[in-house]
Amino acid sequence: MSASDDVREVMIIGSGPAGLTAALYTARASLNPLLVEGLEAGGQLMLTTMVENFPGFRDGIMGPDLMGEMRAQAERFGAEIIQGDVTAVDLRERPFRVTIGAKQWRTRALIIATGASARMLGLPSEKALMGRGVSTCATCDGYFFRNLEIAVVGGGDSAMEEAVFLTRFASKVYLIHRRKELRASKIMQEKALANEKIAWIWNSEVEEIKDAGNGQVTAVVVRDRDTAVRSEVPVSGVFVAIGHRPNTSLFTGQVAMDANGYIKTGEGSRTNVPGVFACGDVQDHVYRQAITAAGSGCMAAIDAERYLENLAHAEASASAERSVT
Ligand code: NAP
Repeated sequence: MSASDDVREVMIIGSGPAGLTAALYTARASLNPLLVEGLEAGGQLMLTTMVENFPGFRDGIMGPDLMGEMRAQAERFGAEIIQGDVTAVDLRERPFRVTIGAKQWRTRALIIATGASARMLGLPSEKALMGRGVSTCATCDGYFFRNLEIAVVGGGDSAMEEAVFLTRFASKVYLIHRRKELRASKIMQEKALANEKIAWIWNSEVEEIKDAGNGQVTAVVVRDRDTAVRSEVPVSGVFVAIGHRPNTSLFTGQVAMDANGYIKTGEGSRTNVPGVFACGDVQDHVYRQAITAAGSGCMAAIDAERYLENLAHAEASASAERSVT
């Protein structure tokens, strides 16, 4: 394993709106940030089409274009961006150690912006058919289901959004929800309920996705939670839209997290480990917006900058004291 002698002031893990905003601010503060962009570079906005609620874009902007702009802006001020999935992080050592495969970096401050990933139902058939008719991204895969009947699972805003979007392609979208009421916001519910191409399957759980044996989706088996009656709904695709899980496994046991694995931040973006900051969806299960992620990335950068300033001050005082004694 090659250990780099290069000790960075600040490293950022994650390249969604939070990570890239943190990179922009720390670069402009002359901290020479190193940002590690994972395999899903750009984060969840890369899976989106039009973003209409990011201030400053009156006519909206495509998600990947917005991320491209943010990336270029951070690079313009000198942020260094490298590709690779971080395989280990050691926060017990100082400077902290960050490992990517056979390479290692050390950093005085770390900003965690690893985001969140789609939750899955946990069915073996779902796993077997992932990418073969099972998807978590309507904007990525909707096109493949032109004039076909498909299902969306979930009852939150994501499920409503995906179902409505998919009616552009599919001839019919079954919305399968495990309860009798939706969790989604009123405006999103109304949009979905008014869409005639959406058929509702309430109070039902997906038990199986067929046909794993043939390597393609042909139907979902749903079970009514009150009557336990099973029925088979013929579909060509299944979109799972049941929420997200924070990407925090790298930090388990090293940073305080809540019961759902989201990193706990106290004042601003500070975690319980001095010098480690968290921003974006990895610490936010409430707002989860591009603009709030970007805002929290800015907070993390400013918090890291102040931390490093205090650290440098403390080190200078300690060394002055040593030279006097
Ligand atoms: P969510 O609000 O947590 O909803 C998840 C849905 O999936 C719930 O209806 C839940 O059912 C269902 N579910 C969870 N686990 C399940 C399982 N194992 N089997 C079957 N169903 C399951 O997640 P989300 O819809 O992804 O939204 C997350 C956040 O992003 C929310 O704050 C939302 O407002 C926001 N968002 C906003 C927009 C927008 O404004 N354009 C778009 C997307 C998301 P229960 O209801 O029974 O718990």
